[in-house]
Amino acid sequence: MTKEPWCPTIYVDQCDRCDGTYKCVNFCPHGVLEVREDNVSVIHPLKCVYGCSSCADLCPKDAIIFPRRETVSRSIKKKSLLQRVICEGCGKKFLSNREIKYCFTCEKTLRTKLRGSR
Ligand code: SF4
Ligand code: SF4
Repeated sequence: MTKEPWCPTIYVDQCDRCDGTYKCVNFCPHGVLEVREDNVSVIHPLKCVYGCSSCADLCPKDAIIFPRRETVSRSIKKKSLLQRVICEGCGKKFLSNREIKYCFTCEKTLRTKLRGSR
């Protein structure tokens, strides 16, 4: 299967920053997005899960797009390459293409705690 490059493109002009709450940045369980100089930036494009488009689904301004979103995500879901995960730390529901138990934020917190206890 040929994998297309898969990561979001943010239309900054269309984004209203969700009144400072940055829904997409706070939602992404894989740490792909970050706020840089008040704008949403894609800082880790390779961490974006192929076929996931959850951040675009929750964007109230339609400011997030993906390449050939419809066809790719449908075929990926059909092949069951994406699985629904409920983070064991915070309960956030998201899609992943690998076996994981925690979202990015909870995993980061756990790692920091582990490092501190050594
Ligand atoms: S969810 Fe949409 S409007 Fe809100 S910060 Fe992200 S890109 Fe901007
Ligand atoms: S598509 Fe999924 S993994 Fe990629 S940035 Fe959006 S929420 Fe994160």
